[in-house]
Amino acid sequence: MQTHNLGYPRIGSNRELKKACEHYWSGKITAQELANTSRNLTIKNWKIQLETGIDLIPSNDFSYYDQILDMSLTVGAIPKRYNEIALDKFNNELDLYFAMARGYQKNGLDITAMEMTKWFDTNYHYIVPEFYKNQEFTLFSNKIINEFVGAKQVGIKTKPVIIGLVSYLLLGKEKEDGFDKLDLVTNLLPVYIEILKELEAQGAEWIQFDEPFLALDLSEKEKEVYKFVYTILKKKFPKLKIMIATYFDGLKDNLSLAVSLPICALHIDLVRCPEQLDDVLNNIPESLSLSLGIIDGRNIWKNDFETSLLFIKKAVKKIGCDRVMIAPSCSLLHSPCDLDLETNEETLLPEIKQWLAFAKQKLDEVVTLKELSSKKPDKKALEKYDRNKKDIESRKTSKRIHNKKVKERVSSITAKDSERNNPFSIRKITQRNELKLPLFPTTTIGSFPQTSEVRSWRAKFKKGDISAAEYNALLKKETEESIRWQDEIGIDVLVHGEFERNDMVEYFGEQLSGFVFTKNGWVQSYGSRCVKPPVIYGDVYRPNPMTVYWSEYAQSLTKSLVKGMLTGPVTILQWSFVRDDQPRSVTCNQIALAIRDEVVDLEKAGIKIIQIDEPAIREGLPLRKSEWQAYLQWAVCAFRISASGVNDATQIHTHMCYSEFNDIIQNISDMDADVITIECSRSQMELLDAFAEFKYPNEIGPGVYDIHSPRVPSKEEMVQLLKKAQDVIPANQLWVNPDCGLKTRHWDETKKALIAMVEASKEATSYF
Ligand code: GLN
Ligand code: ZN
Repeated sequence: MQTHNLGYPRIGSNRELKKACEHYWSGKITAQELANTSRNLTIKNWKIQLETGIDLIPSNDFSYYDQILDMSLTVGAIPKRYNEIALDKFNNELDLYFAMARGYQKNGLDITAMEMTKWFDTNYHYIVPEFYKNQEFTLFSNKIINEFVGAKQVGIKTKPVIIGLVSYLLLGKEKEDGFDKLDLVTNLLPVYIEILKELEAQGAEWIQFDEPFLALDLSEKEKEVYKFVYTILKKKFPKLKIMIATYFDGLKDNLSLAVSLPICALHIDLVRCPEQLDDVLNNIPESLSLSLGIIDGRNIWKNDFETSLLFIKKAVKKIGCDRVMIAPSCSLLHSPCDLDLETNEETLLPEIKQWLAFAKQKLDEVVTLKELSSKKPDKKALEKYDRNKKDIESRKTSKRIHNKKVKERVSSITAKDSERNNPFSIRKITQRNELKLPLFPTTTIGSFPQTSEVRSWRAKFKKGDISAAEYNALLKKETEESIRWQDEIGIDVLVHGEFERNDMVEYFGEQLSGFVFTKNGWVQSYGSRCVKPPVIYGDVYRPNPMTVYWSEYAQSLTKSLVKGMLTGPVTILQWSFVRDDQPRSVTCNQIALAIRDEVVDLEKAGIKIIQIDEPAIREGLPLRKSEWQAYLQWAVCAFRISASGVNDATQIHTHMCYSEFNDIIQNISDMDADVITIECSRSQMELLDAFAEFKYPNEIGPGVYDIHSPRVPSKEEMVQLLKKAQDVIPANQLWVNPDCGLKTRHWDETKKALIAMVEASKEATSYF
C-alpha cells in the first residue's frame, strides 16, 4: 500500500509567497529574490511531506499565481495581446506570466489580464485559458521539468502533478466562433508528449493527471476524447505510471469510462462521494490501482480513523493491498497549512482545536492510516488511533457543539415559517402606503468606503490602543457623517455604511454562537489573495442582537428611511468551513433562524426596510445538474425563513453580485424578496433579460454603475442604462443603485458617482 498527496498548500504557513509576490510587484525585491523565496518554500513543503512519511510527494503543485495559468504558459497558450511583453528584452518569463495574471500597465502599454473564474465549487479562482481556432501549442516553459529536477536535487523523486489534457481544454474558453475547443486536442497532445518524454528521461516514474471533469456531467464527445488521449499516452509511454485524479464529486455515470482508461491508478474522492466505493471496486480491472481519497482536503475536521479503516479494509479485501493507495480527497491547496501555529487558546479553545486537522496534520493522518491497516501496526500508530477515537467521541458528545434548544427549534420549522403573511401582490400595496417612495427610488448596497482611517481605528481597538468607547465614538461620527451626506444629496433609502464591519461574514460569525476563528487558517483564493474562513463547529444561535444598535442609531439621525443590513444564511454558510457531522441544509437553517431573529428585532426597533445579502447563492450550486434543485430548494427555503418573520409593511431586500440568473430565475423568484438588487452595469443590463423573460413580479434594482473601478460614471450613461432597464421591466418595479457595496472605493469618487446617480434617477422620473 502506498500513500500519496495530490498537492500541498503553496502559500506558506506564514503567507510567505503572498508577501514575496506583492513585494516583487511593487518593485521591492528582484525576480531572483522571489525565486529564492519560492524555492525555499517548496523545499520546505517537500521536506514536511517526506518527514511525515508520504510515499509519493507531488511536484508542480507550486505556483506563483495559479496552476492553470502555469499550464497555459507551459504549452504556450499565450494570447496575442501579450506579444509585445514577450518580445521586450527587458522582460523575463515571470513578467509575461504576471501580465497574463494581472494585466500590464507600463511603458505606454495597457493590456488587460486574462479572465479569472471559480475553480469548480471551491473558493479558489483560476485563470481561464483562452483558445482560438487552429491554435498551435509549443513547449514554452519548463516549469514542470524544472520542479521535478529541483526536487531530485534535494533527494526526492516526486510525482509531477499536471492538469490533464481534457480538463485543461474544458477549463478554457473559446475566444472566437466557429470551432470546438476539444478539437484542439490534436495540436495540444504533442506538447504533453514532449513533457512526458522529458520527465521520463529525468527519471520520473509516476505522473498525476488531474481530470476533475471525470466527476462531472460529460458529453459523448468529451468521453471519446478521454479515450483517445489516454490511449495514445499509454502507447507512447508504456512504462510511465499514470494516475488520473478525480475529485469534488463521484464518477457516477462516468465510472465505466474511467475504469476503462489504460492507466495505472485512479484516484477517487470518497469524502464527497463515499457511496461510489462499492461500484468502483466491483468494476475495476486488474490492471488498475485505486487511490482512496479519504481525508477531507476541503475542510478542517480531523479524520475519523475508524470509518476510514473500514473503507481501506473493504478495498484491500477486494483488490489486495498492493493495489490500494491512500490520500487526501483532493489537493490540500484548499486547506490551511498548519494547525500547530494556532497557539492562542483564548480564541481557539483546546477542546475545539483537538477536533481539527490542517494540511500538515492531514498528511500525518494519511500515513497513520496506512500503518494502522498493516498486519502489525506500530505502537505510535496505535496510540494515535486511541487518541483519534477519543477526539472523535468528544466531538460527538460535546456540550459546546450540541444545543438541544437549537436542534428542537430547527426540527420544528414548518412551511409557515418560510412564508410571509401575504403574497407580494398584497404586500406591495401595504408597502407603497407605508414607505411612500418615489418612482425610481435610489439606494446603495450597504457599505461605504472603508478608508485607511476607519481600518486603523479597528486595528488600534483590536490591539488595545484605544478603548471600546473611543472606537465606538469614532464609528458613530463616521456613521453620522454618512447619514447627513446621504440626506443632503437626496438618496431615498439610506444605509448606515457598515463602518463597524471587517467583513460581511466575519462580522456575523463573531457574534453568533457556534463559530470560531483561527489566527492563521489562510487559504489561497486567487493569486496573492488569501481568505481566512470562519469555522462553524457547533449549533448556531444568536445570543444577542447583532446590528440593531447601528441601524437604530443611524435611523435616529434622520427622518428618511434607513435600511438594515444583514448577510444571508446561505452566504454565511458558503464562505465558512462548515461542520461535517450534519447536513449543510441543517446548519443553514440554524443560521437562518438566527438571522430571522435579527430581522424581527430590527423591525421592532423601527427599521422599515431590511436587506439580507445573498451573493453566494449561485456559487453553492452542486457540480452535477441533477443535484441543483435539491440544493436550491433548501437554500431558497433558508433565505425565506430568515426573511419571513416580519409584517407585510416591512420591505425585505436581497442583493446578489456576479451572478447569472438565466437557469435559476424561478428559484430567485421563489426567494420572494420584495426587492432584489443585482450587479448589471458591466453587462449593459443584459443580466436583466432573465428577469424580463420570466416576467419577474417583484421589484428589482439593476446596478447602474460598476463599483470595481474608481471611474466616475456620468449622469447620462446611467440614464441610458435606466432607459434600457425600463424597456424590459416596468418602471414602477425599478430601483436605482450601484452594482455592489462601496467599501473598496474612496469617498471622492463615491460622492461624485452617487450625486450623478441621484440626478439620473430624477431625470428618468421626468420621462414618466
Ligand atoms: N452589503 C454588502 C456591502 O455593501 C454587500 C457586499 C456583497 O454583495 N459582496 O458591502
Ligand atoms: Zn454585491
